[in-house]
Amino acid sequence: MRRLRIAIQKKGRLAEKSIALLIKSGLDFDFHKDRLIYECQDFPIDLMLVRDDDIPEYVADGVCELGIAGENVVLEKGSAVDISTRLGFGTCRLSLAFPAQTPFPGLEFLESKRIATSYPNILKKFLRERGLSSTVVELQGSVEIAPALQIADAVFDLVSTGGTMRSNDLREVHTVLESQAVLIRTRKMIPSEIEIDLQRLLQRIVGVLRASQSKYIMMNAPRSALKSVQEILPGMEEPSILPLSGGSDRIAIHAVARETIFWDTIERLKAVGASSILVLPIEKVIA
Ligand code: ATP
Ligand code: ZN
Repeated sequence: MRRLRIAIQKKGRLAEKSIALLIKSGLDFDFHKDRLIYECQDFPIDLMLVRDDDIPEYVADGVCELGIAGENVVLEKGSAVDISTRLGFGTCRLSLAFPAQTPFPGLEFLESKRIATSYPNILKKFLRERGLSSTVVELQGSVEIAPALQIADAVFDLVSTGGTMRSNDLREVHTVLESQAVLIRTRKMIPSEIEIDLQRLLQRIVGVLRASQSKYIMMNAPRSALKSVQEILPGMEEPSILPLSGGSDRIAIHAVARETIFWDTIERLKAVGASSILVLPIEKVIA
């Protein structure tokens, strides 16, 4: 019988983290042989390892019910898929950049300019929405060298740290899309038994994502400081309060914090009288 299928990138920037997410969601694969499809041993799902560019189409066609790809690729392909959830990795942006010495007074400066890109659809949509008529020069790769080769005045490309732009003497002038890896699902009809497995997996993935954003925090504090502690940790759910032995007015506070706990948060907790502060990672969060 056909099983649920998920497509992920075989090799590249999203490959490792996609696998890691699936493994954290309790799926295990035997990666020993070099294959296109891997069967999961402990969950009714098969994994397809492909080029990221093909993932939106596979999911749109229903070859795979699920896929993990960059939002940039999903939007560029314009495939008929739904984004189930953003995954928090593979973050990057699609930006316009000019040679560093070119002054950039504003977006109207793009009028009649030649812009090199591998993302013609996203760029054309952006230009259309702004009423700009620039020439889109489509290139498959090495977009950043187009101005030096004088085949374009500007580039529209993916940036993460900005290092590639800088080393090609380009200056980012406008971000058009903030992107990250997304889990996409097909819009095609799915047999109900596969839909059940899909929902189970989705719930696990959401649990893993929630857990990675949450921390379990424990501390001792004077009972009178409870309100201040709650104000310092706004992402904190109803905390558990435990009396400390010895009959002092100090209590133990335990809670799940939904927001990142920074060092300065801990310093503020200390300042209102908290001590023995422990911040622990959480493996799963099931609502
Ligand atoms: P494939 O062989 O699968 O076609 P690729 O070379 O097209 O791989 P990668 O370079 O591995 O793709 O990038 C995959 C995705 O990673 C991008 O589409 C984007 O969503 C994300 N990404 C994150 N940071 C960057 C970056 N600095 N440059 C390019 N892509 C990035
Ligand atoms: Zn690709």
